[in-house]
Amino acid sequence: MKSILVSACLLGVSCRYDGKAKPVKEVIALKGKYKLIPVCAEIMGGLPTPRIPCEIKNGRAVNQNGEDKTAEYVRGAEEVLRLARLFGCDTAVLKARSPSCGNGEIYDGSFSGRLISGDGICAELLKANGIKIFNETQISEILGGEL
Ligand code: SF4
Repeated sequence: MKSILVSACLLGVSCRYDGKAKPVKEVIALKGKYKLIPVCAEIMGGLPTPRIPCEIKNGRAVNQNGEDKTAEYVRGAEEVLRLARLFGCDTAVLKARSPSCGNGEIYDGSFSGRLISGDGICAELLKANGIKIFNETQISEILGGEL
């Protein structure tokens, strides 16, 4: 069975900045076809739950208090990449719009809800290492033969 990385919050793990999960049943159902490897770059980078939310600004992860958490974000992304290599994952299903997991679209750093083009820090590192990224709204693409 092929292994794929999945954002842990999409599987029901309460690892989000607000201490909650964001389970998506279509993502959880992938366990019937794939071995799911849960990852959370923010936790794996050493950040607590709950935590003050970050957004990406000028390539840095900065929280709502103006504190730079880029080092933790990068450390967590590297640990996720480590697991991708260990389990031979070439695909990941990551939470949309997150400053770590977002793919193609993220918040603009102003904490105003505005979206811009871009990737979260973990998604960017995985992509740079040849891993295909989907978000929770693209499960049909995975099941449609993309994997
Ligand atoms: Fe979910 Fe990714 Fe944020 Fe962790 S870093 S809570 S897996 S979106």
